[in-house]
Amino acid sequence: MAIATQALIDAGAVVPMLIGGEWSPSFTSGLRDVTNPVNDRVIAQIAYGGADEADAAADSAADAFRSWSNTSTRYRSDILRRTYELLLERAEAIGYILSLESGKLLPEAIGEIRFSAEYFRWFSEEIRRPQGEVFASEDQSRRQISISRPIGVAATLTPWNFPVSIQARKVAPALAAGCTVVARPSEKAPLAVAEVFRALVDAGIPKGVVNLIYGPASPQSNALIDHESVEVISFTGSTAVGSALMKRASARIVKCALELGGDAPFIIFSDADIDRAIQGLQIAKFRNNGQSCIAANRVFVASSIMDQVCDRLGKLTEAMSVGDPLGGEPVDLGPLIDQSRLREVDKIVREATSAGAYFLGGEPKMCDGPNYYRPGFLVNVAEECQLAREEVFGPVAGVFSFDDEEEVIERSNRTSMGLAGYAYTSDQGRIWRLSERIEVGILGINHPLPSVVYSPMGGLKRSGLGREGAHDGLAEYQETKYVSIGVEGL
Ligand code: NAD
Repeated sequence: MAIATQALIDAGAVVPMLIGGEWSPSFTSGLRDVTNPVNDRVIAQIAYGGADEADAAADSAADAFRSWSNTSTRYRSDILRRTYELLLERAEAIGYILSLESGKLLPEAIGEIRFSAEYFRWFSEEIRRPQGEVFASEDQSRRQISISRPIGVAATLTPWNFPVSIQARKVAPALAAGCTVVARPSEKAPLAVAEVFRALVDAGIPKGVVNLIYGPASPQSNALIDHESVEVISFTGSTAVGSALMKRASARIVKCALELGGDAPFIIFSDADIDRAIQGLQIAKFRNNGQSCIAANRVFVASSIMDQVCDRLGKLTEAMSVGDPLGGEPVDLGPLIDQSRLREVDKIVREATSAGAYFLGGEPKMCDGPNYYRPGFLVNVAEECQLAREEVFGPVAGVFSFDDEEEVIERSNRTSMGLAGYAYTSDQGRIWRLSERIEVGILGINHPLPSVVYSPMGGLKRSGLGREGAHDGLAEYQETKYVSIGVEGL
């Protein structure tokens, strides 16, 4: 079906912001090109605002908060449910735009829109469940309750790698809770996410409840953090930026919910089903062209099966095709988001290879086109190299052998990050030990795709604060109010 953002792109029209219920063509910072990473050609232009637009959007959200926060849960639930239905109806058309602007494989892009829709469905239901407690009073002259109230205006600041689902997992619970929203997506993939806001408008959301702004990151984020009505900053992105935002937010004591970088271990024990583990690694490493915060980053293989697994990984990556996700031929990987990402991945690989690492199954090479990078696994990676210590955020990973469980747990935890991890084993006792001792917020055991809308997702250590999804994700946008009521006649 025809969707509005596609019509704007086809007409060469500017993709506007949404402020106070109006699609705003205001662009105090000019227009900004959005490019297709397959060939770096311009596919659209967005209106690029600045701090003024961030302030205007936060003012609108603050006005709208007065009434939205006092609507019935049934009313809000119905709008979220309708948004879910609209996103599902439009998933293929929105997914196409997402693939075009991000280089994601088309099935993954459409899957992301369907997954985003699920957040609206799940929170439309969760907000209809009890939202408070009645305490067992120890005093017959009083009763005590707690109620959940919306925290205020939420600023949702998101990256380019899952630009639609990461906004959805913030916006859906915020709206369900009764908060209003100012969303600032990444300038690198701003188009498909606009359709989430179009779906909300089409579903009947009142003016000002949701606002979408585009513009330079730092001035807009700072304006939102400093705005007197913004009470929660929900940010997903790098740890460095998350830390800077939290520092600024401390001046006004604004709540920060942070989903930050990862460095996921992927452990294959000798008792694992090796076919299943390799299939899982292919997904956990190469989904979204390797640019996922929960991507497998360091692969640990039991020494007794190291040769066998390395042989399989070499063959796997040699057989993988890299190309245009919308080019007609099926491909296993698309391009990286841009040149700076590609240069960063290449720098990490070069540092490792010059210290003695080598690729399994032949040297990865660049493909035709500016942003393609061949997938590959490297062995003999020196411990001091970035590849052994930090998130790559690209389709390569180091493979390391280990001798026993204790050792691999210690090595997995030897990182300041703690977002996700994976392990393949058939030992039930070990599954429990790993669940309790691997220092990550999200652990996939014998399964590479842990993300679901009804489970709490988030990081330990420097990977973040707070949880998204599940009831915990709703609670990020709620304040607990305690009420003590004097009672006579008992
Ligand atoms: P990034 O931190 O550079 O950018 C994220 C967002 O912040 C973008 O919208 C960007 O425009 C904005 N931004 C950049 N600099 C800023 C500044 N100085 N002040 C305010 N805003 C600023 O991250 P990225 O490169 O877009 O994404 C990759 C990182 O995000 C990786 O570390 C990845 O692990 C992490 N990530 C985490 C999750 C998660 O759920 N934990 C999900 C996706 C990505």
